[in-house]
Amino acid sequence: QHTINKIAAGEVVERPASVVKELVENSIDAKSSAITVEIKEGGIQFIRITDNGLGINKGDITTAFLRHSTSKIKSIEDLFTVSSLGFRGEALASIASVSQVEVISKTREEITGVRYVIQGGNEISKDEIGCPEGTTIIVRNLFFNTPARRKFLKSPGTEAGHISDLLNRLSLSHPHISFKYIYNNQVKLHTSGNNQIKDVIFNIYGKDIAKNIIPINYKTEEVEITGFIGKPQISRSNRNYESTYINGRYIKSTLIQKALEEGYKTYLPMHKYPFCVLHYKIESSRIDVNVHPTKMEIRFNNSEELFQLTKKVIIDGLRQIEL
Ligand code: ADP
Ligand code: MG
Repeated sequence: QHTINKIAAGEVVERPASVVKELVENSIDAKSSAITVEIKEGGIQFIRITDNGLGINKGDITTAFLRHSTSKIKSIEDLFTVSSLGFRGEALASIASVSQVEVISKTREEITGVRYVIQGGNEISKDEIGCPEGTTIIVRNLFFNTPARRKFLKSPGTEAGHISDLLNRLSLSHPHISFKYIYNNQVKLHTSGNNQIKDVIFNIYGKDIAKNIIPINYKTEEVEITGFIGKPQISRSNRNYESTYINGRYIKSTLIQKALEEGYKTYLPMHKYPFCVLHYKIESSRIDVNVHPTKMEIRFNNSEELFQLTKKVIIDGLRQIEL
């Protein structure tokens, strides 16, 4: 059983950022309105996620760490239709198999909570404790029992950068949730959860970008595009300033990137990239789900139409910005 978990963990848990992704998505699925992520040393030594969500019942805590214990999604087709982010019920099991995990959780219905400790997949302790509603999960010493995988990790700074990118993306797609990111005791991001994407953009990118963006609001029968676009930005790494989401999920689509750049073409001298936060709502029948669920790539059935639509929306939007 442990060996199976360790192998499966390779798919879900590649680096500290994948741990944070799975845990924060669980917090989102649990209807939290505030999520705090605290990490030390790139998340390799220490990750702590605290949420104020539904919590886990004492009686369910052991099962939550078994593989395939999910009730959220039944098939891969559901991935872009159902509203929850988790889908295979293997995240907690995988994470616990390659690290030292401590969970503290309480549901509203229960008077006391539970503290559960599991290391390398072995249950260490399970105790009744007093604690607030919601869930705190601490992950220590990632890959402590799989040294080969630990060697693959980059420097703490690089790993922390991945986590920071991830939290930026998650807060842009969940403006109704307050996110707090603390790295080596410093608060790096704190969003209000007031449901204004514009305010999240201000939090992440600062005043200069936020003051020069315009809202996008476009709707056909099949596609809805909302969000913000702004002036092209100088970027160190390609496309640092492009975030696109399909039905709430962050994705990287070559098609959309190309359409964006075509739209921006006349405004894009060297080393400048579009600034955008775009949310697409597309009927799931229009999406080719024959892609690996953990990859962020995606294909569309009506790709030419989507390309032209994106380009048009960008060009129309840019006309309204002072460039
Ligand atoms: P999945 O998210 O695919 O269902 P996970 O392994 O990520 O699988 O989580 C297993 C189960 O543990 C979830 O289905 C959920 O019931 C519970 N769980 C995990 N994290 C939380 C949390 N932060 N708050 C409430 N329940 C949680
Ligand atoms: Mg999950």
